[in-house]
Amino acid sequence: MKIIPVFLPYAGCKRRCVFCDQIKATGQTKVPSLDDIARIIEEYSRTSNEYELGFYGGTFTGLSEEKMEEYLRFVKRFPVVKSIRVSTRPDEINERKLKILKKYGVNVIEIGVQSFLDEVLERSKRGYTSEEAERACKLIKKNGFVLSVHLMVGLPGSDRRGEILSALRTVECGADMVRIHPTLVFEGTELHRMMEEGEYTPLNVEEAVDICSDLVCIFEGWGTKVIRIGYHVPVELRKYVVAGPLDPSLGDSVRKTTMKKVIERLKPSRIVVPENYLVWFEGAELEVGDEFRFDDLSYADALFFTGKEVVERWLNG
Ligand code: SF4
Repeated sequence: MKIIPVFLPYAGCKRRCVFCDQIKATGQTKVPSLDDIARIIEEYSRTSNEYELGFYGGTFTGLSEEKMEEYLRFVKRFPVVKSIRVSTRPDEINERKLKILKKYGVNVIEIGVQSFLDEVLERSKRGYTSEEAERACKLIKKNGFVLSVHLMVGLPGSDRRGEILSALRTVECGADMVRIHPTLVFEGTELHRMMEEGEYTPLNVEEAVDICSDLVCIFEGWGTKVIRIGYHVPVELRKYVVAGPLDPSLGDSVRKTTMKKVIERLKPSRIVVPENYLVWFEGAELEVGDEFRFDDLSYADALFFTGKEVVERWLNG
């Protein structure tokens, strides 16, 4: 189902994470009123009558209970809104808040974990521990929601080993899907200051593609769908990104590198690929078919065996 995105910049956020600038990242300067939200929904209703509405850009469950209910009650009045997703953070999840989300038919919870490493969380001023993040993810699953985890790569204090550990813990928490966001440095953020003072070195595009492709093997090999790789920063706002792997085609580069790694690892003599995915393969000999086949392996199996090698390298230091 297509999504109607409603951005509530910083709504419900009780602190500012070092990398975050919702205004420069989205171009939206204020939280929309209910009338604004109605206009957004009506605009989308012109092209389809079935949507999931997503509240993004802040910490939905960090809002007061009254405010959460006001938003949820309001959007449910629109017949085109068939389901709802909200984005939030681990320390704003508890049984009581989940009960409210359930009552209004929220289906998906997108949780910005960003990392499962305590040092990284601390240096990014996230304000919770990896244990709390794990507890929140498991509670979301236990209450029957679809769990979407957001992870960032290249945060202060992280490295390749840290990113892989975070990926493994995400899978272990039962995430149904994941968004992978390589860290960008927005002008004027604390991360920008840290970089200027030599406390932080951002990833470049090549490094981000390499690590993200390893993570894709782990996630999709272990059954967690990767629904987004890289931030979408509108063209007019790209001037605010002062460093980091900003590349509008990062997702495609990661997919291509993932497939290259799979082929190098498995050396299949026959590769069958659905037509829509031919773009992921460069220079390989392919056959077009209904589903992926790498000799007798399915797509998930092929990624599993490639991801297993990534994890073995990680285990062996
Ligand atoms: S919780 Fe999310 S929206 Fe709020 S400041 Fe941190 S990164 Fe930004």
